[in-house]
Amino acid sequence: MSNDGAVQNVLVNGRTYALPQRPVVVVLLDGCDPDYLALGLQAGELPAFARIAREGFADEALSALPSFTNPNNCSVVTGVPPAIHGVSGNFYLDRQSGETVMVTGDNELKVPTILAAMADAGVPTAVVTAKDKLRAALAKGLPIGRLGIAFSAQHAAAAQLKTHGVNDVCDLVGRSEPDQYSADLSLFALDAGVKLLESNRAQLLYLSLSDYVQHRHAPEEKEARDFMRSVDARLARMMDLGAIVGATADHGMHDMARPDGSPNVVFVGDVLADAFGPGSCRVICPITDPFVRHHGALGGFVRVHIAPSGPEVSEVIQCVSAVAGIDQALKGEDACRRYDLAPEMEGDVTVIATHGVALGGCATEHDLSGLAGDRLRSHGGTAEQRVPFMVSTPLTQTWRSAHPHPRNYDIFDAVLNGVVR
Ligand SMILES: [Zn+2]
Repeated sequence: MSNDGAVQNVLVNGRTYALPQRPVVVVLLDGCDPDYLALGLQAGELPAFARIAREGFADEALSALPSFTNPNNCSVVTGVPPAIHGVSGNFYLDRQSGETVMVTGDNELKVPTILAAMADAGVPTAVVTAKDKLRAALAKGLPIGRLGIAFSAQHAAAAQLKTHGVNDVCDLVGRSEPDQYSADLSLFALDAGVKLLESNRAQLLYLSLSDYVQHRHAPEEKEARDFMRSVDARLARMMDLGAIVGATADHGMHDMARPDGSPNVVFVGDVLADAFGPGSCRVICPITDPFVRHHGALGGFVRVHIAPSGPEVSEVIQCVSAVAGIDQALKGEDACRRYDLAPEMEGDVTVIATHGVALGGCATEHDLSGLAGDRLRSHGGTAEQRVPFMVSTPLTQTWRSAHPHPRNYDIFDAVLNGVVR
């Protein structure tokens, strides 16, 4: 508290965050492997990112595991790993009901967000997501209509003052709602952020993009380079408007195809059915989401739930570990301890792939037609934990010394507490 009684900071999940003194934007570059930035910077085609690297702070960070979208978005807005906030996947098996659940709401998020705390403290705060499936969780607790704005690019036309804190988003951005499978889904979210800044409607913004482009295109491909340049232009505009911009990613992205172009997959469900019989184990792919078209629900991390009549945990671990392409098969509780995972979503055995390999359940459960002959690119394991971590203004020596190995969920701490004032 200052002398006039105004709140100067908020305490969220054990960390104190200073209220922004000027507009602050955190951009979650979904699926932005550091290679996309490195290539564009080397080619000299990302002037805003280059400016951030030159004038501010640019490093790499580790994402939370599993390196999927929902767990990491939730980590970024809460400042803590899945072990604390509870969201350890996009999709999980509810052990109590035996039903699988797609995470599209805010039920699983157990702790408050930095964004809601800031809005409660009087900071006009906006959450803009590319995909609507993240909006509810990321906007949890946000006082919509008072100091909170939350909408998605995917359902921009549906935004209403009462439910989203803003009307007529398409008019605001100046174009119609983007296709959910398009690069423009992300660019629309960034443009909306720019418009909110220009019209002074938010002082703190969280803009969460989609990884549609990165799933389909390697860093050197024209589509990826065009996309990165388009992102760069929006960041430039935000900085020109006087905002502090922080950028990180939820996960990286790697090619998971064989030399002949076919997906390089270990179907863990089939491996276990062959070894222990059909129905002995159930494999859950936590990458599964309503956007499976570009990855076929294949990623670098799966969970095995063993049937009551099934094999021992140790037998499953031994069986899976022996398969080429498996980096680690761990007892669920050991994986939770090692990687700060949420125990309530963990399986009996946690399986992580090696670099360049995707994991699946049974081959018959995965629809790969959406790949349409493209090479599989995906994420989920430790190999995709490396992400960019950038802030447009310098960070204090104190902050840097306290975070020698930043996590992506330190980004709000960096932009709010670490900047040189
Ligand atoms: Zn993602």
